[in-house]
Amino acid sequence: MEKKVWRQCGSKNRYKSEHDVNQYRKKYERIRGKALNYYWCEYCNGYHLTSAKVFYYETAEMEDETTETVVADS
Ligand SMILES: [Zn+2]
Repeated sequence: MEKKVWRQCGSKNRYKSEHDVNQYRKKYERIRGKALNYYWCEYCNGYHLTSAKVFYYETAEMEDETTETVVADS
């Protein structure tokens, strides 16, 4: 079951800190009009956004919310 989760690592955006991932989470929530979660990924040492319930990601089907190219607009 791990494979199903981790194989998406490479295609998902990775955020280096909780601060960063929260900024993008709020941005995507505004754009998409629904709540998102984030989780720590030990495989790439960063955070990913997901629409899945974060505490059940082992069994939940991961829907990739962040495949678009994100340009950092600071
Ligand atoms: Zn990852």
